[in-house]
Amino acid sequence: MDASQVRAIVGKYAPALMEKLGIPHWSIVFYYDLREQKGSFAKRGECIRQVRYDKAAISFDPEEFGTEDEVLKNLRHELIHVVLAPFDLFWHAAEAHWTDDPVRTEIMNTVWDHAVEQAVINIERVCEGHGPTELIAAVPGPKPKGKGR
Ligand SMILES: [Zn+2]
Repeated sequence: MDASQVRAIVGKYAPALMEKLGIPHWSIVFYYDLREQKGSFAKRGECIRQVRYDKAAISFDPEEFGTEDEVLKNLRHELIHVVLAPFDLFWHAAEAHWTDDPVRTEIMNTVWDHAVEQAVINIERVCEGHGPTELIAAVPGPKPKGKGR
């Protein structure tokens, strides 16, 4: 996809998804140049948060998406990172205790990243129920394909 296609999908679904996830009060800026920001490795999206100000920046790499459903699922994934943002306060306080130790920093970063991603995935599973994503089905727009609803 190109950036304009991903931007249109995000614009269509983000407000309803933010409402459903309980984060409508957050100010979130969306960017569509993640590949330019990070280099040429494959990563669909990224979410950076300022929890004390309820602000976030979510960046996408449009080249990583082939369908609207892929964009929607990644948008939801990145928004769930916002839902979990209060844990960032703990992380920032805790990491000050090991920043001068590169080995401990590497270990703690790896454990933290894994724990956060697993928490996001668990919430995604809750959202999906047993069929096509119920959360996605609940937001305005085209209905999920394949169930004849
Ligand atoms: Zn993630």
